[in-house]
Amino acid sequence: MTTTTAEQRLRTRDIQPTAMRIRVLNFMIENKSAVSLTDLEEHLSRADRTTLYRTLKTFLEHGMVHQINDASGTAKYALCSENCTCSYPDDVHLHFYCNSCEQTYCFPHLGIPKYDLPESFIPSHGNFVVTGQCPSCPS
Ligand SMILES: [Zn+2]
Ligand SMILES: [Zn+2]
Repeated sequence: MTTTTAEQRLRTRDIQPTAMRIRVLNFMIENKSAVSLTDLEEHLSRADRTTLYRTLKTFLEHGMVHQINDASGTAKYALCSENCTCSYPDDVHLHFYCNSCEQTYCFPHLGIPKYDLPESFIPSHGNFVVTGQCPSCPS
């Protein structure tokens, strides 16, 4: 993925394309699985945790990424698809957490069933995680 494409993707979400934001976005595009703050810190040299945290926060606020709370206890972030508005239930989808390699995979095409919640329960967000073993890990 070229810088121009990352830059365009940021602009579509009304995010000012700074060098750091482009780096973070490109890393997330290249990575098959969801990333944590620590993953970013380990892979992007000369980037401090606070800046990376702020970058993720900006991405979250602008609907560029969504947060996944998997069984690892660490928040992970995956890129939103272009027409995603992070709304419930249409943009809620399945995530798979591998117990062996602790990677989390985002499956935007696997939506969740529409539930009829009991009266007066007002949903605003969904976090759907299935755990198990991924194809990269030997069974
Ligand atoms: Zn695995
Ligand atoms: Zn996802």
